[in-house]
Amino acid sequence: MKKRLSIILVLVLAISCQQGGHRNENGQLNLPASGDIMTGQTQSAGIAVKIREGKVGGLFNIRSLEKIREIQRIAVEESRLKIPLIIGMDVIHGYRTVFPIPLGISATWDMELVEKSARIAAQEATADGIFWTFSPMVDISRDPRWGRFSEGSGEDPYLGSRIAEAMVRGYQGDDLAANNTMLACVKHFALYGAAEAGRDYNTTDMSRIRMFNEYLPPYKAAIEAGVGSVMSSFNEIDGIPAAANKWLMTDLLRDQWGFNGMVVTDYTAINEMIDHGMGDLQQVSALALNAGNDMDMVGEGFLNTLQKSLDEGKVTMASVDQACRRVLEAKYRLGLFEDPYRYCDEERSKNEIFTDANRQSAREIAAASFVLMKNESGLLPLKKGGTIALVGPLADNTENMPGTWSVAADFSQSVSLRKGVEEAAGTDVKILYAKGSNVAQDTLYDSRISIFGKPTYYDRRNPEVMIREAVAAAMKADVVVAAMGESAEMSGEASSRSDISLPACQRDLLKVLLATGKPVVMVLFTGRPLTIPWEKENLPAILNVWFPGTEAGHAIADVLFGAVNPSGKLSATWPQNVGQVPLFYNHKNTGRPLGKGAWFQKFRSNYLDVSNDPLFPFGYGLSYTSFNYGDLKISSDLLHGNGTLTLSVDLTNAGNVDGAEVVQLYIRDLVGSVTRPVKELKGFQKVLLKAGETQTITFTITLEDLKFYNSDLDYVWESGEFEIMVGGNSEEVKSAKVLWQH
Ligand code: BGC
Repeated sequence: MKKRLSIILVLVLAISCQQGGHRNENGQLNLPASGDIMTGQTQSAGIAVKIREGKVGGLFNIRSLEKIREIQRIAVEESRLKIPLIIGMDVIHGYRTVFPIPLGISATWDMELVEKSARIAAQEATADGIFWTFSPMVDISRDPRWGRFSEGSGEDPYLGSRIAEAMVRGYQGDDLAANNTMLACVKHFALYGAAEAGRDYNTTDMSRIRMFNEYLPPYKAAIEAGVGSVMSSFNEIDGIPAAANKWLMTDLLRDQWGFNGMVVTDYTAINEMIDHGMGDLQQVSALALNAGNDMDMVGEGFLNTLQKSLDEGKVTMASVDQACRRVLEAKYRLGLFEDPYRYCDEERSKNEIFTDANRQSAREIAAASFVLMKNESGLLPLKKGGTIALVGPLADNTENMPGTWSVAADFSQSVSLRKGVEEAAGTDVKILYAKGSNVAQDTLYDSRISIFGKPTYYDRRNPEVMIREAVAAAMKADVVVAAMGESAEMSGEASSRSDISLPACQRDLLKVLLATGKPVVMVLFTGRPLTIPWEKENLPAILNVWFPGTEAGHAIADVLFGAVNPSGKLSATWPQNVGQVPLFYNHKNTGRPLGKGAWFQKFRSNYLDVSNDPLFPFGYGLSYTSFNYGDLKISSDLLHGNGTLTLSVDLTNAGNVDGAEVVQLYIRDLVGSVTRPVKELKGFQKVLLKAGETQTITFTITLEDLKFYNSDLDYVWESGEFEIMVGGNSEEVKSAKVLWQH
């Protein structure tokens, strides 16, 4: 009964919004920024006045519960219709307690941890008045030049889909109206990760068949998991910017996929369509509404032009109503009409944010995200004794540890590598610290990569002096730990790079450190796959830690000293050089594939100057133990129709420490009515094995795992031969063939 009354209330309010006449009919569709965070050109001014005038439907990126309570009060007490505001934020990988960047979280391949990170983020954000997050970002990317690679889950549609679902579950829980769950927003719809040349905001262009098979699945998975909102993307698709693309926003999203929640544009995306060449503000705003967007983020095109478009018949009242109703429904689902202050609880704000338990979870999740890329002669874990030279531009930096998009973080609260290592080492180990080099030896470049309160602490001394200091420390040490890589803002929005190698000054430092003859462990910070063939060749150990979040130093020390055995696996291919990009494991075979193990064969698909191999393949990651895979056992090699294939493999922990392995299942459809990828991930299990233990890992495969979009875009399976592969990464697999017939 109560529910029905509230639905009626939403409808009545929707009608009242239009009856507001010329004053404020579009206010619910307007989403200004708070002014705390800016990513675009436009600033939103005079917010309180606008709220009173009914010109604001919600606000985002406000970092104060007090401010939120006050603006909510203005909305529900002083505006004509007394409609509560929706309050959002980019809660991307944690709130105050920051988890690894999303690319790092994806490398855990652990859906419980992924969900937990989103659950804790929702718990903390809602305790601080925020109940709508612009996450998960599920854009598939195969181009590590693109800075926003860091914000997604890598290159694979299957893994990306499972992560999308887990994130939505974590944020939204079972009850959106509970005061500790929040509305999720899947973004950026769609294909934003395929920006040409990896340059942010750039054009995308791809066939429908590629879209449906390779890029759209994670968005669809989020929608099927019940995500309550969607953000349209900046890029164009088929020549029409996503925000104006009716095929995308209505035909596909709503009519085919059945999404009935709210769509918000990206930041000033409507206004940006003027530069895209789609018309003036009135024109592009009408296009955006007619395409199916409900809220206009920051640009105020809806607010300022829709009335005119209505008068001129360029939009209909029904479209305005529909958008308005979707915004109101989102607010209704969040329980705001029952209690607009349900997320304004000072007690929760004091007690539920940045708790010891949350920090402990951040530490565990971070450690699980690290990828051990090389570990010659068991150099890692380090022994707790002797002397360690801790060097590198990121060794003693707290602000960069949370990584990009950590809007609510208090950077001073994150743990530097130096602090983490010193704490873990106690009195058993002597630590000698020297910076050794800057992140990049270029002040102009440094000013671009040390923004948003994340300084690199550019050292103006002569680079030679810094290197000498580091060498002196190395000479006195038993082992060198070099904290190298990108600063936090070398990836993220508008942080594309054309050269994705380590900056030269860092490479110079590594060379002289190696020349000391001391073993060098590189702890690598990065928001994207990097091209580091020289480092892979020459350094004995590399631990890739992404940007680990609040508990960075503790988590890294846990792994360096062996309290935690690394278990992360890459969710994206690392290329040898940028000329190989896009390089991804689930590519097509071509008509002239290169012979296995070959580098160059004339008239084959390859390069003269580099092999086709990745530097590190998708799914790759080492452990302090080693895992042996037995042969695949399949329940049958001939299946019919709706049958089920059971597949098992014996996995043995062959070392003498416990460890977790991500067992990956790939399938290749050998013959199809359209060409099919050389392999596709179709399942994975992360399993913990005691030293010496053997476990039988079982997968079941059904027709669903064989389906793909054919050239008519029908989702089908086709009978024929399939290769089934299982292994610890996408390259080292055991395989078996089955015939599956109608
Ligand atoms: C980004 C979005 C983000 C929005 C709001 C935009 O520039 O593309 O991912 O959610 O800003 O801060």
